[in-house]
Amino acid sequence: MTQATATTPSAIMPTYFFQLPIAFEKGEGIWLYDAEGKKYLDGLCGISVTNLGHSHPVITKAICDQAAKLIHTSNTFQIPAQQILAQKLVKLSGMEQVYFCNSGAEANEAAIKISRMFARKKNISNPAIVVMENGFHGRTMGVVGACNKRTRGGFEPFLPDFVRVPYDDLEAIKSAAHQYENIVAVMVEPIQGESGVHIPNENYLKGIREICDQHDWLMILDEVQTGLGRTGKWFDCQHFNVLPDIMTLAKSLAGGLPIGACLARGKASNMFQPGKHGTTFGGNPLVCTAGLAVLNTLEKDNLVKNAETMGNYVVKKLKETLGKKSEIKDIRGRGLMIGIEFDRPCRDLMAIGLKHGMLFIISADKVIRLLPPLIITQADADEIVKRLNLVADEFLNVR
Ligand code: PLP
Repeated sequence: MTQATATTPSAIMPTYFFQLPIAFEKGEGIWLYDAEGKKYLDGLCGISVTNLGHSHPVITKAICDQAAKLIHTSNTFQIPAQQILAQKLVKLSGMEQVYFCNSGAEANEAAIKISRMFARKKNISNPAIVVMENGFHGRTMGVVGACNKRTRGGFEPFLPDFVRVPYDDLEAIKSAAHQYENIVAVMVEPIQGESGVHIPNENYLKGIREICDQHDWLMILDEVQTGLGRTGKWFDCQHFNVLPDIMTLAKSLAGGLPIGACLARGKASNMFQPGKHGTTFGGNPLVCTAGLAVLNTLEKDNLVKNAETMGNYVVKKLKETLGKKSEIKDIRGRGLMIGIEFDRPCRDLMAIGLKHGMLFIISADKVIRLLPPLIITQADADEIVKRLNLVADEFLNVR
């Protein structure tokens, strides 16, 4: 394999702030292995993608069998696995229709296009969407304007239709309703992940649902990171018995193969008519077969419940140990989406984590974002807590 050296610089565009000096050779369950055979506990899952762990035998077999038979045809033809996966998602979520694409950003693009179609029906020619400060919905030109300052900076002008309000602030949405006549939708994450695992008030999603109903707006819920069991329900909104009009998914749906899905119901369904949207790769036989294997495994192995139980356990144990340190400002989480907030910038923790064989990511400079696989046992959870304590001790110079 060719690697960048002093004389052969990388040919990759440097879009990431930093890259840790490590490459992995294989993965098995909760573990990743480097070239020397050192193992690392994967508390990140490729940012909530490999939620069933690495090389899961059922997913691997489904992918290999399907790849040997048929990888890709075209949405010009029928794709039975796509139909079955859509039926399954609809049943689990309470939504009605699915559009498959290749990423979270694309799923949100589809959601915005649906809201534009909805606006046409209402004879609104300059539709606006309420989005949240510090939100994250992807990096394509359509959605980048809906994101936090750091993500959107430098890419102006954006779609002209985002009305930005503070997160977890229902009054701000209500006052936007008074200020703007052209709003057609609210787009929101049930928990803000990229900006540091911010969990809103329990009444937040229900409140947004009510405001949307009152004004005939679409509620677009971005469950790209929270969905598919991560927070201890199939979809985070199910903690609050809220059904959005549009729900977007991606990340873990096909076990690591690229996939996105935009689900719609009620007044948001049937907005896309033939010719209004499409994709070459989206929903091909390979990804949909993988997606079905993922959903079946989550169901069969009761992993959504496991995420809830293990999430509660990890947070409790972290609070009893790390939480005692004055430098830790907060430990929060729902299911296995967990944030540990320091009182100071802590990016260096990631390199220290490598030393101790523990993987996680730092969000918003001060928050460890922990997204372990949904398959973890209590012994794995104890190991995560133990390693995180070692990492934090070294960072904070406790001897
Ligand atoms: N929405 C949310 C909530 C996300 O966390 C992400 C990615 O982290 C996205 C959308 C974008 O997904 P993708 O990177 O697949 O485009």
